[in-house]
Amino acid sequence: MNLRMLYTYAFITAIAFTGFTTQRMDAQSANSSAAAKSSDVIPPGSPDYDLLLKGGHVIDAKNNIDAVMDVAIKNGKIAAVANDIRADYALKTVDVKGMYVTPGLIDIHTHVYAGTGERGSYAGDLSVYPDGFTFRTGVTTIVDAGSSGWRNFPDFKDRIIDRSQTRVLAMLNIVGSGMRGGKFENNTADMQAEPTAAMAMKYPGVIVGIKSAHFTGPEWTPYEQAVKAGNIAHIPVMIDFGARRIERPLYDLLAKVLRPGDIYTHAFSGERGEQDFATGGPSKAMLVGRQRGIYFDVGHGQASFAWFTAIPLYQAGFHPDSISTDLHIDSMNAGMKDMLNVGDKYLAIGMPLQEVVRDMTWNPAKEILQTQLGNLSVGAIADVAVISMAHGDFGFDDAYSTSLHGNQKMVCELTVKGGKVVYDLNAITGDPWNVPPGRSTREAARWSKLRERSFGASHWKPLPGQPLIKDWTPYPWTGVDEDKVNQPAK
Ligand SMILES: [Zn+2]
Repeated sequence: MNLRMLYTYAFITAIAFTGFTTQRMDAQSANSSAAAKSSDVIPPGSPDYDLLLKGGHVIDAKNNIDAVMDVAIKNGKIAAVANDIRADYALKTVDVKGMYVTPGLIDIHTHVYAGTGERGSYAGDLSVYPDGFTFRTGVTTIVDAGSSGWRNFPDFKDRIIDRSQTRVLAMLNIVGSGMRGGKFENNTADMQAEPTAAMAMKYPGVIVGIKSAHFTGPEWTPYEQAVKAGNIAHIPVMIDFGARRIERPLYDLLAKVLRPGDIYTHAFSGERGEQDFATGGPSKAMLVGRQRGIYFDVGHGQASFAWFTAIPLYQAGFHPDSISTDLHIDSMNAGMKDMLNVGDKYLAIGMPLQEVVRDMTWNPAKEILQTQLGNLSVGAIADVAVISMAHGDFGFDDAYSTSLHGNQKMVCELTVKGGKVVYDLNAITGDPWNVPPGRSTREAARWSKLRERSFGASHWKPLPGQPLIKDWTPYPWTGVDEDKVNQPAK
């Protein structure tokens, strides 16, 4: 008998002994010591999987999966994706029937260089701390888009990247001082390819691109230097094209300056010549850029997404390559809400869910050349989002307070990062509070518990044989106001 057979046999024995979950409580009420023994039946050695997401609709663009399948995770990696994986092969099985299971979402345009205390600066007060905005919307990886440059990246890394639960990657601003305001961001003397590339090469896989943004001058300096740095470090550049200047038309940027694989963000703002004047569809610049292999990123932000641009472009067949938020203090409570909200907008426009998910997972992973992310291949890092779909009448604002209505809205139910549950909206991984944890529950805790009980020893525990469900009154009224009794004497 091999290990799996032994384990399976033991599991069946355990079920026969206690009955399934609903009956188990009664069994334990009747005889809690026997129930406790039966849940210890798991044999020595580890079962095949730590977590099993069972019965969800998997959308994995890289592997062309769009079907109901089970996803099993072991040691932080995807261990199996298959039609029917037996629940008894996993320490913890989570029922995700009726929900979508996707790779952890990747938001490639955010600003999270918070905490420096600098006012009016994306290297300061205009940024947000990542963990407050990511896991609750299924996002496991974000890219800070140029809040820091080569001069202050080490500080950004120390303050945020190294301290966040979220996987935070960065694009270095071509401006050495980063996004500290117009005085810095328009200083062409601080736009140097060499030190920028040198810093990028010092942190491969963390610095994943070069960014230019907010430039108001007529020169091509920031874009040329960004591309030069990208060439040295072999990473893409992302362009926020700043103020619209007749001296540097969008056509030249997309047809000549940028390389295939570079990223044009705020692509649906309509502010810099994205639309053809006659038709409202994509301009010649956009069409040439797409033909050349430049990626078009949403980067919604506070001011960079317009229905009057996004809808005609979509209807003319010009779809985004990646969906991103441009998350920062001024966008998070505006037309942009969060990653899923921006995805919802494309659902409302009519984009199929499979494409929306692709644009939030596999496509952004490809754009930043981090193809170990954004997919559910066996062996991949187990970053997973579980999403349910709410149906109703929902309104969606753009950057101009004009709205489009839709009938679907994505809700993040569960987020797993590196095989560990990091967000669980409706406690679908929770264990019943009043059933003593069996051995598999205790072993699974490493992966499924949001928080360990650091003061566990002081928690109340039922006595052996104490009835747990029907007859037990948790806080019997003693007739004495305990708060008053416990007041120190004056
Ligand atoms: Zn931005």
